[in-house]
Amino acid sequence: MHLMVVGGAGYIGSHTVRQLLGAGHRVTVLDNLSSGHREALPGEVALIVADLLDPPALRAALQSAQPDAVIHFAALIEVSESMRSPGRYYQNNVTGSLNLFQAIVDTRKVPIVFSSTAAVYGEAGAAPIPEDAAKAPTSSYGHSKLMVEQILRDFGVAHGLPYTVLRYFNVCGAAPDHTIGEDHPNKTHLIELALLTALGQRQKMFVNGTDYPTPDGSCVRDYVHVMDLADAHVLAIQALVGGAASAQAYNVGLGHGFSVRQVLDAVDEVVGTPLTREEGPRRPGDPPSLVADPGKIMAELKFAPRFTDLGEIVKTAWDWHRTHPHGFES
Ligand code: UDP
Repeated sequence: MHLMVVGGAGYIGSHTVRQLLGAGHRVTVLDNLSSGHREALPGEVALIVADLLDPPALRAALQSAQPDAVIHFAALIEVSESMRSPGRYYQNNVTGSLNLFQAIVDTRKVPIVFSSTAAVYGEAGAAPIPEDAAKAPTSSYGHSKLMVEQILRDFGVAHGLPYTVLRYFNVCGAAPDHTIGEDHPNKTHLIELALLTALGQRQKMFVNGTDYPTPDGSCVRDYVHVMDLADAHVLAIQALVGGAASAQAYNVGLGHGFSVRQVLDAVDEVVGTPLTREEGPRRPGDPPSLVADPGKIMAELKFAPRFTDLGEIVKTAWDWHRTHPHGFES
């Protein structure tokens, strides 16, 4: 099948493109290259440079590419930035997605898989979190993604648009051959920052908050490897196009959490020298704990993560960063 991968030049998008090609599909990427990298895409992938805030360009892209299905990754993704600039987040993530869905409905009403986030749950009481847990985002980023989920529900009812929502927990790691990996313009993710600190690009790591109601006081997250997450997209789009029920949401995580301190311990172990660590204040918008209940995706889509060891996950990221200390060349 021919997939249009929107935001396919980004971190998760580019790993998914690779897995889609490996599964025998054809791929066209649509990306504005604001944070994605052309080099992250194999030569056989067609790239359309366009912005989600440009509806005529979206309609033209869908009409020229004629995809059988769409996977939508393109978004701003930083919790703390979203708290400082909520307008940018609502415009890019909500208006941009709305434009894309409207363009799909106006041109080719093809199935779509949407990248959502564990941040939609916010301070969910229970752990692990099932898909039907209360949604109470603590950041504008989380709110923006939850709004897009609502838009999809309405488009599903009104226009019969088939869709699946994947709610990612904390994505990390890199392709094991370390040819692609994480390279965001602003570095905020824990593992990436720690590894860049190990490379001497930063002096020390801050533990953002040590007074959370968690076993060691630092935030707990469920770290899922980007290759496993990419496989989840392949499973989801194949199922949806194959006639599986629309309007489903799936958590994508491993089902167990690690604290910030535990992640930094794993980084120290992989890198071989302890990083300088300092305890800092809480980061606005961070819920104390986000751990998936991934039972639904495992049962219904046969999701079977291959990277279940934190040290191994960190090792793939380390191999990417030490071989590409400044990321992609472009
Ligand atoms: N974090 C930290 N120090 C850092 C970067 C992140 O303590 O230098 C914490 C962050 O506050 C959160 C956790 O690590 O509790 C995971 O943050 P990340 O930005 O990697 O992912 P998010 O959970 O925001 O998607």
